[in-house]
Amino acid sequence: MSRLGVLSDPIRFAREARRLGGVVKVEAFRRLADALLDHAGEFEYVIVGEQGADGKPYLRLTAKGVLGMQCQRCLERVDWPVEVGRLLQLVPVGAPIPDEELDIDAFDAIEATPGLDALELVEDELLLSLPIAPRHESCEQPRPRDGAEKESPFAALASLRRKAE
Ligand SMILES: [Zn+2]
Repeated sequence: MSRLGVLSDPIRFAREARRLGGVVKVEAFRRLADALLDHAGEFEYVIVGEQGADGKPYLRLTAKGVLGMQCQRCLERVDWPVEVGRLLQLVPVGAPIPDEELDIDAFDAIEATPGLDALELVEDELLLSLPIAPRHESCEQPRPRDGAEKESPFAALASLRRKAE
């Protein structure tokens, strides 16, 4: 396993406005793999540390790529472009995560664990961005059978995993 994207001291990373980025293969996202038809492709990601106007440390994540999902109409592969962005407030380990901040949609608060795996955070965002029923924008194929509106077992599994977290 690559240690790419690991922040040994996340708060320092943010305070020093460091930047980490690269390209990661889709197959590296193990939790995501179950939701995909195939694991081809790569994601570009960038993680930037910043100090907010409130003086608190933040991580800004962005990632962009294409996922190979299964069209829920014709069951063939559909290239699903994904672009995610998220602002995360770093809370020192052991400090309470304030409730009111959890309600603000502009960012999430996370514990600044040493050795924080930023790619895990990117994967979390990708999992949340997955469509339940992906389809080709204009799918010419006939439906394989009546009532094929059902969620794929893969999508159902991804949604179960989300709930379990
Ligand atoms: Zn299709």
